[in-house]
Amino acid sequence: MKKCSIQSCPGMYEERRIAHVVKYHGEMIVFDNVLVEVCSVCGDVLMSLETAEAMEAVLANLGKPNRSAPVYELPSFEAA
Ligand SMILES: [Zn+2]
Repeated sequence: MKKCSIQSCPGMYEERRIAHVVKYHGEMIVFDNVLVEVCSVCGDVLMSLETAEAMEAVLANLGKPNRSAPVYELPSFEAA
């Protein structure tokens, strides 16, 4: 395991699969099951270069999505 790269954070990265959302030409694109490393303390996310490049390759050549999902927006809340 790798130590967190955030200064003074004592956390360690652990592998997780997440849904990663990117905005592309104003559209939301969701990549599901993206393998990343997440700090267990501060939540910092590390993505491998291979993963980032694979996503860019998909975006550069957008075909039909494997699945699609409805998108909801919440009203904005004032911070308490
Ligand atoms: Zn951390």
